[in-house]
Amino acid sequence: MALQEHNYWLTTADFPKIEALPLPDRVDVAVIGAGFTGLSAARTLAQRGAKVAVLETQTIGWGASSRNGGMVLTGMKLGVNQLISMYGRDLTRRMYAASLKTIDCVEQIVREEAIDCDFCRCGHLEVACKQKHFDDYARQVDVIASEFNHQLRVVQRNELSAEIGSNIYYGGMVDEVSAGLNPARYVAGLGRAATKAGAEIFEHTRVEDLQPESRRGESGWKIKTSRGQLWAHEVFAATSGYTSKTTPALQKKLIPIGSFIITTEVLPEALAHELSPRNRMIYDSKNYLYYYRLTPDRRMLFGGRAAFFPETDQTIRRSAEILRRGMIEVYPQLHDAKIDYVWGGTLDFAFDIMPHAGQLDGMYYAVGYAGHGVAMATYQGQKMAELISGDKPENPFVGIPFPGAPLGLYNGSPWFLPFAGMWYKFLDWVS
Ligand SMILES: Cc1cc2nc3c(=O)[nH]c(=O)nc-3n(C[C@H](O)[C@H](O)[C@H](O)COP(=O)(O)OP(=O)(O)OC[C@H]3O[C@@H](n4cnc5c(N)ncnc54)[C@H](O)[C@@H]3O)c2cc1C
Repeated sequence: MALQEHNYWLTTADFPKIEALPLPDRVDVAVIGAGFTGLSAARTLAQRGAKVAVLETQTIGWGASSRNGGMVLTGMKLGVNQLISMYGRDLTRRMYAASLKTIDCVEQIVREEAIDCDFCRCGHLEVACKQKHFDDYARQVDVIASEFNHQLRVVQRNELSAEIGSNIYYGGMVDEVSAGLNPARYVAGLGRAATKAGAEIFEHTRVEDLQPESRRGESGWKIKTSRGQLWAHEVFAATSGYTSKTTPALQKKLIPIGSFIITTEVLPEALAHELSPRNRMIYDSKNYLYYYRLTPDRRMLFGGRAAFFPETDQTIRRSAEILRRGMIEVYPQLHDAKIDYVWGGTLDFAFDIMPHAGQLDGMYYAVGYAGHGVAMATYQGQKMAELISGDKPENPFVGIPFPGAPLGLYNGSPWFLPFAGMWYKFLDWVS
């Protein structure tokens, strides 16, 4: 098969057929974006009796939610020592506990809604690209055990072959609690679950303008879309790396970053077992990192931030070659394996690389998953829905400082990304 510029996961999933109905005149909550965040929120809101409209420019799961590696990971992008220095022990403890609950949250939804998405608690493996990265693993494992009562395991270099069929790393760290799934099947299932709960999903409906407007004494929003207008008592922005000028205050707080993935042809069983004997979700210790795993049908899926730009046809093609070279450095055994698919997607980083949720200009939001969004986006959607319905759920990411660009030098157009890319490569070289 010739290389296809197409998301492999989409070849495995059936998406619900959504009839293009006219927009309602009024809803309790308008959710912008039909990815994990928006659909998880819509499901919970509708289960609690709210009238919900999910407004999506494209189709269900079109954004990062169908395009990712399907790694359902514990922890956050930042290491625990850095989190403690930023937030102190108590808040970091609550954040870490929440990160563990995010996996349970996904597992529970998959079970309750019978979503056929190959969810599997196969654990994750972080591999060290340098000796000093490996030395830091032992310190992290101690802090995580003593502060958060969660057990990770250090894997010495001479024992690593039980975890990975590569000999370029200095050792590893395993967390058995993390999981893997097929993201396209999962987001399609979340779409069905939201609809079953009573939420209405409107595809090909871009939100173009939002204005605060009261109706019969009730505060709310007039929403202009590409398919007409509606009024909502509350708005929840779940637009992640695809956040646009429609919500300018949110856009200025987020950096959209392109990430790219290749998958090989289906591999022989013995070779697949040699590459990843325990079927882990694997990523390395660099800033400019690679992440990889086997797909359920035994392809090697290999991803990375091959270019610091949101995806375009050009960056996708360039990424296929960059990633293939990276994959062969890790796994020389794949030298002759054909690459069947390449695709890209956009994820969102906040300037402090943390997830953020709350209210901005009167509108609810949850964003900033920094490549850890499969579990966290599902969880934030659910928690924010509980908050919007009037509960006070435990959510340590609400109300933490949400910094914008240093010196305010950012209007939403990420002109500095090539420099950020060089900076991260430099950090990988020196750290
Ligand atoms: C290549 C890649 C690999 C990744 N791998 C992993 C991984 O292995 N593990 C992990 O945890 N995370 C991973 N991530 C991150 C994860 O996929 C995201 O954090 C998560 O999907 C975010 O979900 P979301 O619902 O918030 O946003 P999205 O799924 O991006 O959805 C946002 C939606 O909003 C819509 N939208 C935007 N503006 C408007 C508007 N004005 N009107 C209407 N609709 C609008 C968009 O069309 C889009 O569909 C990866 C991301 C990428 C791109």
